[in-house]
Amino acid sequence: MTRTLITGGLVVTAAEEMLADVLIENGTVVALALPGRQQWAAERVFDATGKYVVPGGVDAHTHMELPFGATVASDTFETGTRAAAWGGTTTIVDFAVQPKGASLRSGLDAWHAKADGRCAIDYGLHMIMSDVNESTLREMPGLIGEGVTSFKLFMAYPGVFYSDDGQILRAMQQASETGALIMMHAENGPAIDVLVEQALARGERDPRYHGEVRKALLEAEATHRAIQLARVAGSPLYVVHVSAREALAELAAARDLGLPVFGETCPQYLFLSTDNLAEPDFEGAKYVCSTPLRPKDHQAALWRGLRTDDLQVVSTDHCPFCFKGQKELGRGDFSKIPNGLPGVENRMDLLHQAVVDGHLTRRRWIDIACAAPARMFGLYPRKGTLAPGADADVVIYDPDATHTLSAATHHMNVDYSAYEGRTVTGRVETVLSRGEVVLDRGHYLGRPGHGTFLPRSTCQYL
Ligand SMILES: [Zn+2]
Repeated sequence: MTRTLITGGLVVTAAEEMLADVLIENGTVVALALPGRQQWAAERVFDATGKYVVPGGVDAHTHMELPFGATVASDTFETGTRAAAWGGTTTIVDFAVQPKGASLRSGLDAWHAKADGRCAIDYGLHMIMSDVNESTLREMPGLIGEGVTSFKLFMAYPGVFYSDDGQILRAMQQASETGALIMMHAENGPAIDVLVEQALARGERDPRYHGEVRKALLEAEATHRAIQLARVAGSPLYVVHVSAREALAELAAARDLGLPVFGETCPQYLFLSTDNLAEPDFEGAKYVCSTPLRPKDHQAALWRGLRTDDLQVVSTDHCPFCFKGQKELGRGDFSKIPNGLPGVENRMDLLHQAVVDGHLTRRRWIDIACAAPARMFGLYPRKGTLAPGADADVVIYDPDATHTLSAATHHMNVDYSAYEGRTVTGRVETVLSRGEVVLDRGHYLGRPGHGTFLPRSTCQYL
């Protein structure tokens, strides 16, 4: 048995803040005690005086190695989970993709093969349904039994991932019977495609037009429609990457009615805006993702939504493409720019910066980044908190250290940072994953294959 002791830190969970020593045996938190009160013997001791001791981050929305058109997201499960660990995230939930015309099973097997033996931290999988039909609907209960309990549908991307309203309703009916959670990319894809075509015909080809054609109202309309379809089906709903205040208003209205409707936003919508999309010399391509970045004045509504619990989770939608050779595929035609931003390494720090800036309390930081995603996707209390019995996924966090985010120093396999040059207050000092030291004071000690697949239960908010 290996005993690890973390002494003297301020333990912050979604529910509590307390000065405490934390005792870990093998991979599990076994006890918390008043500092110095228990004379525990341990092989390894970390002095966390003056630091925070927090649960490892849970990033419930990543896309490692995702094929997108003619290219593939540049982080593998190996490089992406290593970068996550550098940033204090110890669990990701990535998306297996059903190839169109094939079974869910074949997509899930393919993603298991990509991730197995390569991850530095633990991981779960959601399932993207590209093709809702009798046969794939019948596969859903089997996947839930294997711990893949959430299914993502798209109202955007006609001809690729798109599901029509009838398909969405049928998947939601299946979810209401089985306890699955439907995750929705809520944008009106067919309408957006018309606006894309018209913009290109007018010669509007720069990255900023990506933001202009993907209108906030078309996000709000799809969000509204998804909510009504979920009501008809009697199913819960989780809307991914909410970026428009009008879409958030739809979620808030649904929650006021007591409906089991949940929402996620991402750091890029809280810290970046259409100003970035408008950067000259095609630099705006670095910020092309869907839903798109919005004008700055949407940010206040998103922060408020996080404070009032109209939004419950902040994930990254980490989906990196290099500027050179990947984003450049869309030079002269914004619709060909691969959609996605890197961020898995930056989320915990950016949200801590939001604590420093007064947008969030410390406990809310841990709630939206650790506890709520763990509960939402059936991993709590094994993940997302520090309590006896929890996995010893622990971050010692220095709230006073400052550092500057940059592609020159980050660990994601991508040639730019969406936050280049931004100085943040707060930095990860030590990271444990199931009791093993993955990172300590700038030294990476993790290894591919330490991370294991996490079979998940169904949503714990229901
Ligand atoms: Zn996504």
